[in-house]
Amino acid sequence: MPRDEGKHSNDDALRVRPGVEEQPSINPELGKKSRRRALSVEEYVSGIRAGDRVALGRAITLIESTREDHQRRAQEIIERCLPFSGKSIRVGITGAPGVGKSTLIEALGRRLTAREHRVAVLAIDPSSTRTKGSILGDKTRMSRLAADPNAFIRPSPSAGSLGGVARRTRETIILCEAAGYDVVFVETVGVGQSETTAHSMVDFFLLLVLAGAGDELQGIKRGIIEMADAVAVTKADGDNRERAETARAQLRSALRMFPPPPSGWRPPALTCSARTGAGLETLWETIEAYRAHATETGFFEKHRREQARHWMMQTIEHRLRADFFSHPKVMEALGPLETAVVEGRMSPFVAAQRLLAVYAEVGHANA
Ligand code: GDP
Repeated sequence: MPRDEGKHSNDDALRVRPGVEEQPSINPELGKKSRRRALSVEEYVSGIRAGDRVALGRAITLIESTREDHQRRAQEIIERCLPFSGKSIRVGITGAPGVGKSTLIEALGRRLTAREHRVAVLAIDPSSTRTKGSILGDKTRMSRLAADPNAFIRPSPSAGSLGGVARRTRETIILCEAAGYDVVFVETVGVGQSETTAHSMVDFFLLLVLAGAGDELQGIKRGIIEMADAVAVTKADGDNRERAETARAQLRSALRMFPPPPSGWRPPALTCSARTGAGLETLWETIEAYRAHATETGFFEKHRREQARHWMMQTIEHRLRADFFSHPKVMEALGPLETAVVEGRMSPFVAAQRLLAVYAEVGHANA
């Protein structure tokens, strides 16, 4: 039984009513924290299932919370939503700051909502985890999409390691799908491992690039091209159209040099303009074509199962590591052994063995 259940009979206006749309808001939680009533897990799940964005937003806040009781409730909600998840196409979008990610997501998202799709936009923004400053920035840039009742926009969770942000984003995808969002965009910026992380939770990975002078592949991190299921040159409008076409031709021949990816899908090079809408239709058709191809070959399901396995292993690794390094006895032994290794007095393997032995002795309370 939640804390405040049954009280606040005058707070009817604050109650989450399944199926009733609230005022669209980027963050429906703002300003409500002190007044809102705790919901039961049942209420969360039925709210989410009814497509209530406030219930969804609040459940995501639980996912993002570091409080243990919040985490417990979040996990219950996720478990209950899991059977209703999985039905969306999950699209990762990456590219350097300024390439046009937000503008594209908004333009494409609005086209999709106009066709009765329900679109969720999530973000993995590694900068916010470290500096609190955000490279992806303020999602009010997508204000028109945010105001669309068929869209749900959630900024990147702002605390913790990339691993933590990734877990929360992944769990958020499950809730969004249970809430009926059939297109989930995961936006990320190419910093550190964030692209690999985003890639590991989506079905289709889109790399956006700007037309520049010279070699179009310069400045793109190694390994990113290989992850892409399509590369699109953005801002192909006005004076930039020709350059974008040239860039696309270069990219196309560059893409041919790579061995075919495990999906057997040949990533195309495209151009698009979020401003004029040119190429957006082809872009969406490409995503649909990929889905049809991957579904037919069985890769789609296989890939998702592989991702699920990967996340299970990652979770174990994270938990074990955190437990190991949070243990006072281990930490006590760590310093001197580390010094011995650095000074060449002890082999790293022997030192690691000793530490693991200490850990095994003291038990693992939190794993
Ligand atoms: P992000 O940092 O990758 O999310 O990039 P934004 O979507 O914020 O776009 C960066 C800048 O490029 C903004 O000033 C946009 O107005 C502009 N921009 C985005 N898409 C287009 C486009 O299709 N054509 C043109 N000409 N400008 C665009």
